[in-house]
Amino acid sequence: MGLLSSGTPLTWIESRKYNDYVRENGLKQLLYVFKFCSRRTGDPLYWGDEIEYLLCQLNDGTKEACLTLNHDSVIDDLNGKYNKECEDLNLKFHPEYGRYMVESTPRRPYFDLNVGETEQNMAMRRRLLSKLLENSGVLPLSMAVFPRMGCEGFTNLQNPWSHKNCISRSLYLPDEIINRHARFPTLTANIRIRRGEKVCINVPMYCDTNTPAVDDTVYQRTWFDREDRESIVASKPGNIYMDSMGFGMGCSCLQETFSAPNVDAARYLYDGLVNIAPIMLAVSASSPFFKGWLAEWDVRWNIIANAVDDRTPFERGEEPLTNSVYGGIAKEKKAKTQRIQKSRYSVTDLYLGGNRFFKREMNDAPVAINEDAYAMMVDNDIFKMDEDLARHFAHLFVRDPLVIYNESLEQDNLTQTDHFENIQSTNWQTLRFKPPVQSATPENTSAVGWRVEFRPLEVQLTDFENAAFATFLYLIVKCLLVFSDDINPYVPISKVWENMDTAHVRDSVLKCDFHWKRSFSADSDYTTALYNLDDIFHNPQSGIFPTFIDRILRHEGYVARTWKELKHSKNEDGNCKRLYYYLKLVSDRAKGSLPTTARYMRDVVLNHPDYQKDSRITKKMNYDIMRLAQRLTNLDDTYNDVTQFLGSELGTYVINHAL
Ligand code: ADP
Ligand code: MG
Ligand code: MG
Ligand code: MG
Repeated sequence: MGLLSSGTPLTWIESRKYNDYVRENGLKQLLYVFKFCSRRTGDPLYWGDEIEYLLCQLNDGTKEACLTLNHDSVIDDLNGKYNKECEDLNLKFHPEYGRYMVESTPRRPYFDLNVGETEQNMAMRRRLLSKLLENSGVLPLSMAVFPRMGCEGFTNLQNPWSHKNCISRSLYLPDEIINRHARFPTLTANIRIRRGEKVCINVPMYCDTNTPAVDDTVYQRTWFDREDRESIVASKPGNIYMDSMGFGMGCSCLQETFSAPNVDAARYLYDGLVNIAPIMLAVSASSPFFKGWLAEWDVRWNIIANAVDDRTPFERGEEPLTNSVYGGIAKEKKAKTQRIQKSRYSVTDLYLGGNRFFKREMNDAPVAINEDAYAMMVDNDIFKMDEDLARHFAHLFVRDPLVIYNESLEQDNLTQTDHFENIQSTNWQTLRFKPPVQSATPENTSAVGWRVEFRPLEVQLTDFENAAFATFLYLIVKCLLVFSDDINPYVPISKVWENMDTAHVRDSVLKCDFHWKRSFSADSDYTTALYNLDDIFHNPQSGIFPTFIDRILRHEGYVARTWKELKHSKNEDGNCKRLYYYLKLVSDRAKGSLPTTARYMRDVVLNHPDYQKDSRITKKMNYDIMRLAQRLTNLDDTYNDVTQFLGSELGTYVINHAL
């Protein structure tokens, strides 16, 4: 989650006087990166994934499950005592927003496709983490959202409300859920203070016969004069109300980063993935519940978007919730403030362009840009960017830096990029365009080059599923890079924004139509039609399987015609068969013949004997969900869970070929 500098972060009031300073120097640092690295070319396709886990404790006596706030030291152990083991096994562990979270990645990236390597690496990460936590009875589960997050007893904290939670001021989340590193509480407080209000998340509640008309967990407290009054005004009837950064950043996800041969290829790859992002979000849906309620949504994305939305009421174009709002913008800056359409966590705002298929009209959605930064990027003495690239970065620069460290104010812009990374790492879009470090000159090929990060995927419970999604996306990426002269991926970006909202709808996989192209050929037009997800994956003219997957598999010599041939491939190590089942998982979910994780978990709640048709998830139901999640994770089919969840053919394969 971005920079973890050591030092003292400044409070919002102290830090905002440096906002322009950080932006100005961050911009120079970015221009130096371009100056030094824009001619770098020939990087191979290195890539890697990131998986986040929730550290959970299950109590068989009380039949309760909670998140543990006492085991974050496992990350220090992994990076200390077990560093050598991690190094040898190619594993890396990182802290995340929640004190109950761990993130893991391969330490060195994978190179091209080596089927099984990704899953093997994921399995080793989980195994080592599990081994270290085993004696304390803690389970690392790669679960997108904890069902009773924010409800009574959701952590193992003995007395959460014995003192005020001054950082988030949430009615539900004690500050102890936040990572101990000073960056995270500072982010939480600074977002709230800049916004001038607590963050506000309303998610449509799943409506069953006995579901109450309002979220009856909203209450009036008297700890914080203003924030406690806001909740009543902010919560909307028919919605699950949440009021803190932790509800969003405390969710887990699956991300992937891919390197491209050079800056132009990276731009093309980024643009090619723009409309793939909402589609993959929909098919990976794993988040049917929030704060102890069943939701009418299936994915986490917009919860995080709202959970870190630091825009002032003016920027959002809304009235303040209460009249005592002070807002975060210094008075003298008022003249420069502008409306900003979206949260800093959101769907990709702009295509990067820079290739023959791109048309500027494709960036047809309203996007605020920092005009001063734009003018500087296109005309300066360091490196002159083209207008489309400048527009992308000038949009990132409409945001204020959220966490500034006293100790890192002074930087050498020729060799450091912390100020740029400060802005970049708190712009959380579905894709991230990652420039190299400045030392990645054409001569220094050992430093990381131009990369694109794919961020929308919901994390899955099993390593098999996560590897399947990761590999599926790898094949799309490889296809885009190999056939970049022959695939026109562009659609108006406003359609992508719409797709992103559609992806949130409960069972969008089964029920919804998305904007998609009729053809991706070089001479295809830029219009879209509405397709369901089955068509988007399988239709012969423009489906993802025929257009991207089959094409690259043929090119790489895996198959003669279609991916289905992989099933009967005679290769000895069984990798083709494994690849077949990875693809089959995605294909079956897209078709609806296999439930998404969200659908499966929703049904577990709906069919639970304790369920009162009121959309509520009780402690016992929460416990049963977590036990089930554990069995699925471990491929334990004692109660036929795995073969139900993955279907009998796929489930049996996965169980018999566990890595
Ligand atoms: P962030 O949280 O900023 O996205 P991480 O370090 O958590 O960054 O994850 C970066 C991912 O990029 C990891 O999966 C890592 O293996 C991968 N990676 C590392 N080096 C390269 C490279 N040269 N090209 C592509 N991916 C890389
Ligand atoms: Mg992360
Ligand atoms: Mg990371
Ligand atoms: Mg990442």
